Amino acid sequence: MMGAARSRRDPRHRGRRTLSTQTEPAARTSTALAVSNLEVVYRDVILVLRGVSLTVPEGKIVALLGANGAGKTTLLRAITGLLDIHRGKITKGSVHLDGRDITRDDASAIVRAGLGQVMEGRRIFAELSVDENLRTGAFTRRDKAGIQASYERAMDLFPVLQGRRKDTAGYLSGGEQQMVAIARALMAEPKILLLDEPSLGLAPLIVEQIRDIIVQVNQQGTSVLLVEQNATMALSIADTGYVLEHGRVVKDGPGKVLLEDKDIREFYLGMGDTGRRSFRDVKTYRRKKSWGA
Ligand code: ATP
Repeated sequence: MMGAARSRRDPRHRGRRTLSTQTEPAARTSTALAVSNLEVVYRDVILVLRGVSLTVPEGKIVALLGANGAGKTTLLRAITGLLDIHRGKITKGSVHLDGRDITRDDASAIVRAGLGQVMEGRRIFAELSVDENLRTGAFTRRDKAGIQASYERAMDLFPVLQGRRKDTAGYLSGGEQQMVAIARALMAEPKILLLDEPSLGLAPLIVEQIRDIIVQVNQQGTSVLLVEQNATMALSIADTGYVLEHGRVVKDGPGKVLLEDKDIREFYLGMGDTGRRSFRDVKTYRRKKSWGA
């Protein structure tokens, strides 16, 4: 009964009907993004990532969970070539996009290679219009007809933006700004989309809309790496989830399995009564389970 109700509500089931021709390929086995044994150091001394490995299979949604300071943003910076400006460096390991080594590539080359990013905090251009924001997302492209097609696709995905095209983006609501940020990233037609806490600061109803949009984007063929503290939202749509703590992956598994995991429910979903501070504490309390770091 519960399962049936849940699957009816599951946006992946809703959308699949309309978009099935693009989303049900016979075999999708290749890897969109592979992070292997990644180590990152800030200012030559502060070791933040300690051998992180993570895979986003093509066409899938992968969720990355972790408390404040776990290293999620640092991992995204390492993947997108943005560590330099934060005085960070990859000291070990590799990042492959679609089989190509991008570990040492600069940020714009990585965008051109097919990686799109929606940064934490809805970093849109507040003074520009919605339209202008979207056009900046196509900065790596020259194909006018293709850019127009991407623009129309974005407007189809976000009907609420259609009536706001000429409005100054900074005056939109938080949810609409998040939509502009996602639409702008899609203007580059990325193979994989990285989202850093898209639900942050948004009302539950808007979080649901954003979640449905992520599912739709994925069903149109874009792989997704979703960084979230909202574990319920992320795991409800993720094929696979990873838990990062103190710069290490401490747990991974299918999204639906993690959603039912006692430790994750206790620490991330606030369903325990112990008030422990970290995922590791929860594990220690549970008499050193074998899956820990
Ligand atoms: P949050 O959810 O709070 O953004 P996070 O999981 O994204 O947390 P990071 O922002 O990656 O975590 O930070 C991981 C660790 O790296 C923290 O201890 C943070 O203080 C440190 N850190 C982040 N950026 C820098 C920097 N530029 N220089 C030095 N240390 C940094």
